[in-house]
Amino acid sequence: MTEVADQFTEERSGEVTRISHWIDGQRVEGTSGRSGPVYNPATGEQSGEVDFATTEEVDAAVQAAKRASESWRVVSLSRRTELFFQVRELFHDHADELARLLTLEHGKVFSDAKGEVARGLEVIEFCCGIPELLKGSYSEQASTGIDVYSIRQPLGVVAGITPFNFPAMVPMWMWAPAIACGNTFVLKPSEKDPSASMLTAELLKEAGLPDGVFNVVHGDKAAVDAVLEHPGIAAISFVGSTPIARYVYETGTKAGKRVQALGGAKNHMIVLPDADIEMAADAAVGAGYGSAGERCMAVSMLVAVGHAADDLVGAIQERLPKVKVGNGLEPDSEMGPLVTREHRDKVASYIEKGAAEGAKVITDGRESAPDNGGFFLGVTLLDEVTPEMEVYKDEIFGPVLGITRVDTYEEAVRLVNENPYGNGVAIFTRDGGVARQFQFEVNAGMVGVNVPIPVPVAYYSFGGWKNSLFGDLHIYGPEGIQFYTQGKVVTSRWPDPATSKVDLGFPQTR
Ligand code: NAD
Repeated sequence: MTEVADQFTEERSGEVTRISHWIDGQRVEGTSGRSGPVYNPATGEQSGEVDFATTEEVDAAVQAAKRASESWRVVSLSRRTELFFQVRELFHDHADELARLLTLEHGKVFSDAKGEVARGLEVIEFCCGIPELLKGSYSEQASTGIDVYSIRQPLGVVAGITPFNFPAMVPMWMWAPAIACGNTFVLKPSEKDPSASMLTAELLKEAGLPDGVFNVVHGDKAAVDAVLEHPGIAAISFVGSTPIARYVYETGTKAGKRVQALGGAKNHMIVLPDADIEMAADAAVGAGYGSAGERCMAVSMLVAVGHAADDLVGAIQERLPKVKVGNGLEPDSEMGPLVTREHRDKVASYIEKGAAEGAKVITDGRESAPDNGGFFLGVTLLDEVTPEMEVYKDEIFGPVLGITRVDTYEEAVRLVNENPYGNGVAIFTRDGGVARQFQFEVNAGMVGVNVPIPVPVAYYSFGGWKNSLFGDLHIYGPEGIQFYTQGKVVTSRWPDPATSKVDLGFPQTR
């Protein structure tokens, strides 16, 4: 059991743990005098206090990563593979502890937290194939006696800035491919739930990753700005809300860095009249309220076409009283609290706003929230939402599902295509031809056909369109490998054959 995991084997009560940085393979206490509270959202109690990094502390992490980079980039692909298999084993063995940390600081229910770890592990597994992923191409005799070949090389020190809603998986999307490609890494996780990144650091050390290859600096805007401005950082991956994604992209690229910045979302699920309504209702409830709606791929708008609307509303309404809201560590809880009190209050304010704007409040989550000091809100269903309403336009990021009613498929697609976000989208229908037309013409990066949360598997890449992504490359999968490497093409001629000697030993790769 690791040190961080030890601290969390029992639910803490009244005890506030200090969460420090991780630089050059060890914990480093912050010196800024600035820090932020970390809560257990299910009880409302403060469980931690996280140090906020100064520019100097960010620099120390970058310098450690820079030193480690010299030796890490020459580590053979075979050794990197061996190490990633070890990393995979350790994360697999400690999945429950990691998931428990997520529940304690984020609030999502334990089964969902385990799902997060499992999807992150798939990215680590993809990275176990790094020799295959980094293969170049070779053209013999491109000209007489001349061969041409391509190679991909790491960028050096790269950084990741991550959101609160997937404190383990989103960092895995970044550090796993970045490190497998031969880069060293500085992570600035969300200050709301920072402990998962510390357990990650411990596990990577235990797996044998050299000190300095993975570093963590905590903090808020000041730490992010220090990362954006640091001349030693070659590339930045960001995942978070759209305004900050745009800021990170603009500031980072201006400073000469390669940046991929994934932003917010307003994901629509279109339900056509021929859809399996029971299946669509199950999907809508799961994708709308899972993780309390705090997923960038959550369905937040249902677009019911024609006579699908009344049946769909009825089927969802039937299911809502059965959704069990409670502490994520209780086995029967299906939906936990929101991450902070402020966020819960902000989400709740949209129910009032929606009603004032003319939406019909079918189920009001304020009436069903457990009242124990935790940051709970029950499930809310708003019908007759129209595109002019703020509840339609804003990313609410909570358990509030809106329904808009339209007459035709064309109107439904227009709504999606005119929306400024373009992360995920889903269509529910039994008509294969319509589904095919939809995938062709819809403006979004990830499309589900009778699948409400189409998060790509690890060997494809994840990313939205429009205001859901700033940058050219999607994250993880093949585009992740491309993002964390730069190409080089060698044109070569040999005047003499290479010298050789007899060696009867079995060829070694390391
Ligand atoms: P956020 O934008 O508030 O924070 C993300 C990161 O940016 C954090 O590390 C935070 O410390 C930092 N940050 C916050 N304010 C900043 C500022 N003013 N200047 C510089 N840095 C700042 O996002 P969040 O609330 O943690 O996460 C939820 C958001 O993330 C939602 O909008 C959600 O849709 C989005 N998200 C998107 C994806 C995706 O893949 N597209 C995935 C997960 C989450």
